[in-house]
Amino acid sequence: MIYMGGMNGINSFNPNQFYGSQNAASRLLLSKIEYFDENENMLQKIDRTNISNGIVFKSGVNTIQFHLALTSYLNPSKNQYAWRVDGLDHDWYYAGNQNIALYRHLPAGKYTFRAKAADSNGDWKQDELVIHFEVLRPWYAMWWAYLLYGMIIGGSLYSLYRFQIRKKMSEAETMRLQELDKFKTNFFTNITHEFKTPLTLILGLTDDIKAMSLSKNDVELGKKSGILKRNGEALLRLINQILDLAKLDASKLKIHYEQGDIIQFISYLAESIHSFANSKEIILNFESVEKNLIMDFDQERLLQILHNLLCNAIKFTPHGGKVILQVSQVQNNGKPYLSITVSDTGQGIASEHLPKIFDRFYQVEKTVTTGGSGIGLNLTYELVKAMDGTISVSSETDKGSTFSILLPITNKAPRMHMLLRQETSERSLLSVSQAPADSPSILIIEDNVEVMDYLSASLSIDYRLELAYNGLDGIDKAFEFMPDLILSDVMMPGKDGFEVCATVKNDDRTSHIPIILLTAKSDVESRIAGLKRGADAYLAKPFNKEELSTVIHNLLESRKKLQKKYLDIATGSLANLPLKALDIASPEVVEADAVENEFLQKIHHIIRERMNDAQLNVDIICREAGMSRSNLYAKIKALTGQPLAVTIKLIRMKKAIELLTATDKSISDIAYEVGFADPNYFSKVFSEEYGMSPSKYRNRG
Ligand code: ADP
Repeated sequence: MIYMGGMNGINSFNPNQFYGSQNAASRLLLSKIEYFDENENMLQKIDRTNISNGIVFKSGVNTIQFHLALTSYLNPSKNQYAWRVDGLDHDWYYAGNQNIALYRHLPAGKYTFRAKAADSNGDWKQDELVIHFEVLRPWYAMWWAYLLYGMIIGGSLYSLYRFQIRKKMSEAETMRLQELDKFKTNFFTNITHEFKTPLTLILGLTDDIKAMSLSKNDVELGKKSGILKRNGEALLRLINQILDLAKLDASKLKIHYEQGDIIQFISYLAESIHSFANSKEIILNFESVEKNLIMDFDQERLLQILHNLLCNAIKFTPHGGKVILQVSQVQNNGKPYLSITVSDTGQGIASEHLPKIFDRFYQVEKTVTTGGSGIGLNLTYELVKAMDGTISVSSETDKGSTFSILLPITNKAPRMHMLLRQETSERSLLSVSQAPADSPSILIIEDNVEVMDYLSASLSIDYRLELAYNGLDGIDKAFEFMPDLILSDVMMPGKDGFEVCATVKNDDRTSHIPIILLTAKSDVESRIAGLKRGADAYLAKPFNKEELSTVIHNLLESRKKLQKKYLDIATGSLANLPLKALDIASPEVVEADAVENEFLQKIHHIIRERMNDAQLNVDIICREAGMSRSNLYAKIKALTGQPLAVTIKLIRMKKAIELLTATDKSISDIAYEVGFADPNYFSKVFSEEYGMSPSKYRNRG
C-alpha cells in the first residue's frame, strides 16, 4: 500500500489492485504509418489521428511500415505482436516484442492488414486490429493502359504485316516494271533496227529517182526526190540516235579513243557549221586559248555531241544572235580537263525546265512544235558520261543558254592517222608529200583554212594532195594536174563549188574526174538537184574522217569498174554496155557516162581513120581531140586505166582480126594495113595478145 498526503487528507494506493484491471483494459493501437513514396523519393507519415480504415496509397508506394502499440504499460518490453496481410502472408508473423510491421515491394492491389498483441503475461488479445488499404496501380498499369498497349501492339503488328505485304508487292511490281522496260527497250531496239534496212533501201531509190529526173530533165521530180532524201536521212539519223541510246543503256557503246589534236578537230567542226549559222544571220565564234592540244578523243562521238549542242544553239537563237564555242584547258581536283562551252544569246530555257533538260524525250512545251524528238540532249549527256566527262547547263529566259562540258585529258590511246596542223607556209608542201607516188591524187578546193587543215590532215596519208584555196585556183589546178578526184567546198567567194563543178565537168580534159561537193546544211538541195552536170557525190558538213574516206573510196572504186568498159569502148569492142551490168547505179555516173562515151568513140574513130600509118601521130590525135598531149595521155589513162599506146595497139589488133576473118588478105598485107611496118613484129604482138599467131587464128576453124 502506498500513502501520500494530499490537499484533502491522505490518499492511499494499492498497486496489486491496479495490476489486473490495467491488463484487462489494454488495447492494440496503430500509432502511425510510414511509407516510402518513390515518386517524391521521401518517407511520408500518417499520424494516428489521420488514420482511417481504408487507406489508399498512390502508385509508387511499395514500402509501408505499420507502427503498433499496446496500451499495456506493465512491463511493456515484454509485450508481443503478430501480424499478417491477407493475400500476402499465409500465416501470422509473430514478431516478438518488435512492434513495426514492415512490408516492402508491395505490388498494387487491395490488402487487409491484421495485427494482434499479447501483454507481458502472454495473453493474446482477442481483438484484432484490422486496417484495409489499397496501393493504386500506376497509370500505365491501368486497364485502359493495357487496352491501349493492346491496341498499339495490335496496330503495329498489323502495320508491319501491311508493310511487309506492300514491300513484297512493290518488289514484285519493280521486277515486273524492270522486265517490261527491258522488253520494251529490246522490242524498240529491234523494231528500230528493222526500220533501218527498208529506209536505207528507200534512200537508195531516191538516188535512182534523181538520176531519172536528170536524164528526163524533170526539175519537179528532182525536187521531190530531194525532199524524199532529206526526210529519209533525218529519219535515219533519228534511228541511229535511238540505236546509240539503246547501246549506251546496255553499256555496249564503245568509245573509240584516238590521240589527236582536239582543237584542230573542234575548229573544223565550228567552221563546218559556220554557213548554217550565217544563213540564219547568227554569228558563230570559235574561241580557244590553246592552239593545239593532243589528247584522247573519239572523233565521231565528239562530232555528235558538238553538232547537237551547236545546232540547238543556232535553232533556238533568233536572227542577229550570237553563238560562242569556247575551248580551254582547266584543272579540276588537280587533274587536267578540257572545258568546252557552247553559249548562245537565244530564247533560253526557263528554270523549271532546266533540271529535266537532259531527260530522254524531254522537250520544252513551247518548242515541241519546232520539231525534234527530245533525244539529242539525252544522247549528248549519255555520251559525255560514257567519256567520263560531265555536262551542265545554265540558262536565263530571253538571255540565252550555256552548255558546259568537262572532258578528262588523257594521252593513252593510239595516235590518230592524221597529221597535225602545220604552219601555213609548210602546210601544202608537207601534206602533199606524205602519200606514196602511185597513190591516187586528190585536189582539194576549200577557202576555209580550218576545214582545209582537217581535210588535208585526214587525207594526206593515203592520197597525194593538191590544195587550192579558191574556186579559180581550183579550176586552174584541175586542168594542170588532172587529179583522180576533186573535193570542193560549195560556198566560196568568187567561183563557188557549183561553178567549179560545171567548168570541170564541161571540159573534155577533166569531165571524167569525179567531184565531191562539200555542202553546208543551209545549201539549197533543189539547187543541187537542178544542176545538170552535178557532182558525183555530196557530203554534208560536218562529216568525220570515216565518212569522207568511204565516199572517196567508193567513187575511186566505181571509176575502176568503169575503166574496163571504157577501154572496150575506146577499142571498139563495145558500143555501150548498160551500166547496170557493171553494177554501177550511181546517177552521176549514168549522167557522165554519155559524155565519156562520146569522147572515147571520137578518139576511137580518129585512130581507126589513121590506122595504116605506122607512125600514127599522137599530135594529130591531140589536134583532132582538141587537147594537149599530156592532157590526152592523162585523160585516156584515167578513163581506161591503160596508157594511150595500149588503146592504139588494141584498136589495131581489133582491125586485124576483122581483116583475118573477113578477107583473104595475106598476113603481111594485114600487118601493113593496121599500121605495122614489120609483119614479124605484128605476128609477135598479135600472139602476145591472143595466145596464137595470126595464121593460126585464121585457120582456127
Ligand atoms: P530536240 O531534238 O527536240 O531539239 P534536244 O534533246 O536536243 O531535243 O533538246 C531538248 C529541248 O531542250 C529542246 O526541245 C529545247 O526546248 C531545249 N533546248 C536545247 N538547247 C537549247 C538552247 N540552246 N536554247 C534553248 N532551248 C534549248
